[in-house]
Amino acid sequence: MNCQSCGAVVVGNYCEHCGRKIVRVTPNQNINMNRPTQVRETPNSQPSSNYGKQKGIAALILGISSVVLPVFGLLGIVGLVLAISAKQDGYICSLRTTAFVLNVIGIGLSVLAFVCFLSVALYV
Ligand SMILES: [Zn+2]
Repeated sequence: MNCQSCGAVVVGNYCEHCGRKIVRVTPNQNINMNRPTQVRETPNSQPSSNYGKQKGIAALILGISSVVLPVFGLLGIVGLVLAISAKQDGYICSLRTTAFVLNVIGIGLSVLAFVCFLSVALYV
């Protein structure tokens, strides 16, 4: 709350700086004056594709992990779900496509690794 006369921050009903009586503003007027309120509203007004981008990046990281270490095939499945989810959020670009492909390869590798492990375990 600021003094309408001198702009000093006022806690009570009277300005300690100039002694002017403070007129309380309505919440609607407050939105234009109060910066934190505007900041809080910003995430809601952002396009949903921003969330899709975060999912796409997460999917890419999971995809790389599942390709480098096929043991993390489960991560590939999570990454695949994230990549599909990112597309549904409207985030369609080469990064998401790369993440999608990497996760598919990662899942494929982990299935291969699992089959190799099973055949070794069964026939040795
Ligand atoms: Zn004042």
